[in-house]
Amino acid sequence: MTQTTQPIQQAAAIVARAHRLTALVGAGLSASSGIPTYRGPGGLWTRQRPRQGAPPLLSYQEFVRDPAAWWQARLAAETDPSHPIYQMKQAVDQAAPNPGHLALAQLEQRGILHCIITQNVDNLHAAAGSRAVLEIHGNRNRLRCLQCHRRTPRNTQTPQNPPQCQQCNGLLKLDTVMFGEPIPPDVLQACRQAAEQSDCMLLVGTSGTVNPAARLPLLAKENGATLIEINPEATPLTPWCDLSLTGPADAILPQLLNSI
Ligand SMILES: [Zn+2]
Repeated sequence: MTQTTQPIQQAAAIVARAHRLTALVGAGLSASSGIPTYRGPGGLWTRQRPRQGAPPLLSYQEFVRDPAAWWQARLAAETDPSHPIYQMKQAVDQAAPNPGHLALAQLEQRGILHCIITQNVDNLHAAAGSRAVLEIHGNRNRLRCLQCHRRTPRNTQTPQNPPQCQQCNGLLKLDTVMFGEPIPPDVLQACRQAAEQSDCMLLVGTSGTVNPAARLPLLAKENGATLIEINPEATPLTPWCDLSLTGPADAILPQLLNSI
């Protein structure tokens, strides 16, 4: 990996001048914490995925068709070592924030980073100490009511099946956004507003292929933001970026922090 110091210093100067810095984070950051990716060669679901449709237990349509059956199968999968859902759960349970997560938390604590928009559901930003985090694809440790959108910790799940919201009796699902599920409107609105108000956005370990998250940098750019990409390889968003720092985010972000 060759990385000249010059682009890092350019990025550091831009970041230091920014009044409203945001970071859009993707799976590449969590991959450095040992969390397997879903997509791509060897991805957990690439190996399991049927020819058509979403892998079992991951489609929103499957959930809404029969929520009680879905919850029963999900809880069984979580205790079956041969099931990819069990394997993913184990991997994420054992994962810890890496130096990239910690650098983002430091940027916030130093008053430089306004907020993180993350596509990761693993809760590692909170574990690293970040506070202003918008989770566009939800959080694996929470449940969400489909009726009133209230989020509650998963460990408060009641034994009834399907679980019900204690506030409105609505249906509870995992907060994690499933294949075919619309992004919850409250978090999507907050992400769009954060993007529009940014004057600089870091694109961290995101492939730039999953919408609507991939459109947020373009929204920021339309509103005058400078885009800085941090990724080991070029992405569909690279042509829109003002600066690209080539390398893994867990190596580049600490360098950036130390250059400010
Ligand atoms: Zn509710």
